This record gives sequence, C-alpha cells and structure tokens, in this order.
Amino acid sequence: MSLQSTPALQPITESPEVIAGYLKELNTAALIMSVVHMTGDTRLLQELPTPRTLDVVAAGAEAGEELLEGGYTPAQVADLHQRALAAIADWQARGATLEPLTDATIQALYRFMCGADVDPEYLEFIDEEVAIDGVDRRGLHFDDPVLQARAADFPVVVIGAGMGGVLAGIRLAEAGIPYTIIEKNPGVGGTWYENRYPGCRVDVPGHSYSYSFAPNHDWSSHFPLADEIRAYFDQCARRFGVTPHIRFSTDVVAAHYDDETARWRVHVRDAQGEESVLQARAVISAVGQLNRPKMPDIPGLSDFRGPVVHSGAWPQGLDLAGKRVAVIGSGASAFQIIPELAATASHLVALQRSPVWMFPNPGYHAEVGHGQRWALEKLPYYSKWYRFWLFYTSVEGVYSKTLVDPEWNSTRSVSASNDEMREALTAWIESQIRDPELLAKVLPTYPPFGKRILQDNGTYLAALQRDNVEVVTAGIRSVDGQGIVTEDGRHHAVDAIVCATGFHADRFLFPMQFTGRGGVQLNAQWSETNGRAYLGITVPNFPNLFCIYGPNTNLVVAGSIAHNAESQVHYILECIRLLLEHDLRSLECRQDVHDRYNERVDAVNAATAWGSPLVDNWYKNAAGRVTANLPFRIIDYWKMTRHANPDDFLLR
Ligand code: NAP
Repeated sequence: MSLQSTPALQPITESPEVIAGYLKELNTAALIMSVVHMTGDTRLLQELPTPRTLDVVAAGAEAGEELLEGGYTPAQVADLHQRALAAIADWQARGATLEPLTDATIQALYRFMCGADVDPEYLEFIDEEVAIDGVDRRGLHFDDPVLQARAADFPVVVIGAGMGGVLAGIRLAEAGIPYTIIEKNPGVGGTWYENRYPGCRVDVPGHSYSYSFAPNHDWSSHFPLADEIRAYFDQCARRFGVTPHIRFSTDVVAAHYDDETARWRVHVRDAQGEESVLQARAVISAVGQLNRPKMPDIPGLSDFRGPVVHSGAWPQGLDLAGKRVAVIGSGASAFQIIPELAATASHLVALQRSPVWMFPNPGYHAEVGHGQRWALEKLPYYSKWYRFWLFYTSVEGVYSKTLVDPEWNSTRSVSASNDEMREALTAWIESQIRDPELLAKVLPTYPPFGKRILQDNGTYLAALQRDNVEVVTAGIRSVDGQGIVTEDGRHHAVDAIVCATGFHADRFLFPMQFTGRGGVQLNAQWSETNGRAYLGITVPNFPNLFCIYGPNTNLVVAGSIAHNAESQVHYILECIRLLLEHDLRSLECRQDVHDRYNERVDAVNAATAWGSPLVDNWYKNAAGRVTANLPFRIIDYWKMTRHANPDDFLLR
C-alpha cells in the first residue's frame, strides 16, 4: 500500500469565463507547472523566466518595474492565463486524461521551479517530498513473511497524539507493527488540541503544515486557525485508522527499560487514576517541545482574586469582554491574543518585557479564495506544485541571514545581511507607529532572529495603539488581590491576568520518568534542562527509545515542522528495520557518535542570531545552551535522517 497517490480530480464544469476569474487568484509558478503537465509541452519553461521569491519581487518593485507574484510581468501573466484556458479546454477535449510525464520532464519542471541553478542535492529531496509520480518513498513495507512476523511481534508505545504521534501511528501500521498511542488529552491534535486562546493560528501556510501524503484542500485561510488544524489531525487519525489505537486522557508516568527482556515497561495512569503497565519493544516520544505551560514566578500571583489563565490552557467559555485585562508576555501567543482581547476588553495592559520582530505578511489572515480551492481540487497537479512552491521557497528560508559573521561588530545585528533584515523590519514597524514613545517601546534592539519573528499584517501594533490599550515595559514587581504592581511603583487594577509566558521548553519529555539501561535516569543524564540526542532522535543508554521533535529539532526560519516530523519518523522506521532485518533485540546510540553530533549542533547554534549571547529566548536553557533548535539547513537534516547507519549504534 502506498500512502501517496495521484490526486483524484473532480471534473471541471465551470465556464471559461468563471475559470478565467479563478486563474487570477492562483500561484503563478504552480499554474505554469500545471499547464506543462496538462499539455506535456515544455516550451513554456524556455519562454518564461524561473519564478522568484517575494524579496526579488519587492526588489523589482523598488526598481520601478511592475512585477506580480513569482516576479512575472502583467503581460506574462495575462499570456499564461490564456494558455491555461486553452490547455484546460484541450485536456477536457482529450477526456481529461494525462500521459505520465517522463523522468526528464519532471526533472526539468523541478529545475524550473527551483531556478535553473538549483543544487543537484535538492532534486532527490524534492522528488521524495513532491512524489509527483504518486510513489511514496518514506514508508516501510515488509514483503518477506519472516519480517512480517517479526514486525507483528514488535509492539510499540507512542506517547502523544499530535502531529508526530499520529504520523508515527500511520507509518507503523503501514509496516505491520502493532502500536498503542498514549495521549494525555481527550482528543487528537497535541498543541493544537491544547492551545485554544482567542486568535490562535499557525504561522506556517496550512498547505505545507500538513502531511505530504494527506493534502488538505479545505483550509479556510492560508494560515489556519487552531480549530481547523486540530480537525485536520483528527481527521487524519480517523482516515488512516489510528484513532482506535489511542488511549485518551491517559498520562505516561514513567518508563523502564528491562535489559533482560529488551522491553520497555511503560507505566500509564488514566483519568480515573487507574494505573497499568504496557510492554513494548520500542517507545516513540512525540510529546512536542511546547507542551507544559510555564507560569511566571511573580510574588503574590496566587493572591489575585480574578482568573489567572495561561495561553496554553485557556478555559473553555472564558469571556473577558468588558473586563480589565493584563496580558503578561509578548511572544507568539501574546501577539495573537492581544488584538482579540483588546477588541472587547474595557482596558488591556500589555506587560511587555521584550519587544518582538515581525515579518510583514499582508495575507496573514487572508481566506483561501474560491479560485484557489477550485484549482487545488480540479486543476491537474496544481495542489502538488503549490505545496512544492511553499515548501521549496521556505526550505532555506532566510537561513543565511541568521548566521553570525565573526567580523561583524554590532549588538543589534549579527552580519551585514542580518542588518539589512533589521533595517527592513524596523521600517515595517516604524510605518505603523505614530507615537515616538510607543515606537521606542516596541522596536527591538536585539538582532533579528534572536527570538522567533512573527508573521504580521499590522493587527498587533494597531491593537497596541487602541485607546483602551496600554503598553507597560516596567518590570513586574508583584501581584495583589486587585492587580499588578510594576517596578515603577504603579498599580494596574485588572479583573483578569493572562499569562502568555511560554512553556517549559528546555525540559524534554517532562515530567515523565525514563529509566534506561543499567538504571540510568534520563532526567539526570540531561541534567533536567540540557536535553541532547543524536539527530534529536536517539539517546545513549536508552535503547529503542526514539524522539520526534526531540532536543535540537525545532525549526526557526526554514521549512515546516511537518517536513521534519516526516524525516524523523522515516528515520525511526529505518532503525526498526535494522532491528527486524538483523533479528536484533535493541539499538542504542553510541556515546561517541552522539557527542560528536552534539558538538556540531552546539558550534553551529552558537554562531546563529538565536544562539548569540546578546539574546534570551526559549530556545536556550538556563545555562545559555540552545537546546531547542536545529541549527542545520533542512536539507542537511533530511540527508542525515535518510538512513540509519548501523555503525552509529550499539546493536545487541
Ligand atoms: P514565548 O515565546 O516563550 O513568550 C513568552 C513571553 O512571556 C515572552 O515575551 C517573555 O518575555 C514573557 N515572559 C515570560 N515570563 C515572564 C515574566 N515572569 N514576566 C514578564 N514577562 C515574561 O511563548 P509563546 O508566546 O507561548 O510562544 C512559544 C512558541 O510557541 C513560539 O515561539 C512558537 O514556536 C509557538 N507558537 C506558535 C504560534 C504560531 O504558530 N502562530 C503561536 C503561539 C505559539 P522575554 O521574551 O523577555 O523572555
């Protein structure tokens, strides 16, 4: 069984006039690909320049040239639309069937989409991700009955039913491996199940924030709201038969590795407090990095008379309309919460310790138009090429701008290109603020990428300038029954306190207790907040334990975490394949391999804007080591996770 498939298209029944209108909404690069696909004629690729990313388009605009999305002129786009209409009519006249494209043509399409000078190393990566031929290159299948029997006798416990855990379930089932998912919440979705604060949405395009084999053409907006993402993962869990394998409202308390039997004993506790033990040959942790809300340690917080809520544990039905509200924090969560609350609160105090950088993205709240949906559902291969475009243009993202130039001498940027980014982002903030006092408060003085840069369409700064909103940058001294006292001695009387203060991101697999070979405690090995793993996945002394989104796997500026999750699950299955094919009991990462890898991770992270001593962020632990982020390019990580090298492990 292959999870990938050539998309089944719905018939095109719309008139040419309606279609002509729809074409105006489409991504030009993906449309070019679709036209070549329908016609099989690659001449278009010679006639048109390769598509360009947004910054190139902006550069063209500055030079006075009118360029549309993809860097095309209006005349080129108009011509393309005519050709698309003709191609659609011709394709329909041929019975809406397509001849398969040759490998050479597919490669030509990839090269065109990426720019002629694409590095060949990307082509294989793209081939796997796009799977234009419908062949899934990521799953694991056993044809040999002996291996099938071994797979059937290899029970796995997966912890967490979010993006990673559901994916692990789908892939394990494909390989014929029995599994149980333990999920602490009553439903699927992980972080998207838990984060229900007003305005919660993802800041990666939905069309790439999804499994490669399960595209969703129904996102209502380009950056979907949490409810929709939760529904997507729930739907995937049902569609791929994962749901019956999930034990909901159940916590993993501890897991012990038994050397004698080479099995994990996983201790779980359900909502009624009943404890039980599951036996597993392997454990896959898919608990995420942003899983345990972190409340601020402020004297008197427990004395406050009104509600004190955390963004990651928003109480159902909480209505703060007409109330005086304090929001502590100005990270990604506060950035989305503040505009929503400010619209109805009588007064809102935004307690900001650090300002944030924000990327201009006018389409951040934009809905997906009828034309775009029509194309995703009906235009041959458009959805595949569109996802590819989103994917490829973010693969490297702005990675190079995050790297420290050791010769660069500034506290506000880390290199010349980082400084250019700083200037552009500064201009964006300045364009929105009239009051110099507020501008001084909200303009960051640390380098861009020192903290997560947020997608912005102007909503946040507009909210901060409302009459009912005050931005307070004085530190918080204490809380009393009626409000918050700041370091300048002011008392801010409020009815509710919202803590958008982040998560225990440096406590991986917290608060579970893992005991590995020879009684080694994972917490102790990691000194509580110094999680380390090989490729973020395997850990010395912990045989057959695998992490998805483990230490040093967070993506900051490139790609979508969905791609990384697929790489990690693929790698975990390769490890399991190694075990089954060689009839081994256990696989454990070698300490020297792990240490060498981590030295590289630390060295590269330390030379990035987020690793710079100039900044504090949730990517670092208290000792200042970056424990959250993957410092490599996404393609490098993909290459590292293609195969499980037996030499990296102690195999028993
Ligand atoms: P966060 O980025 O860790 O932000 C926490 C905020 O609270 C920071 O502004 C921090 O200030 C402040 N803070 C913490 N303790 C404080 C205290 N005692 N007093 C005053 N201020 C305090 O947490 P988050 O906003 O929940 O976001 C975490 C991550 O979740 C994001 O980076 C992102 O990866 C993910 N996320 C994504 C989305 C999305 O996709 N759109 C939305 C929400 C979250 P300092 O900066 O000075 O420490």
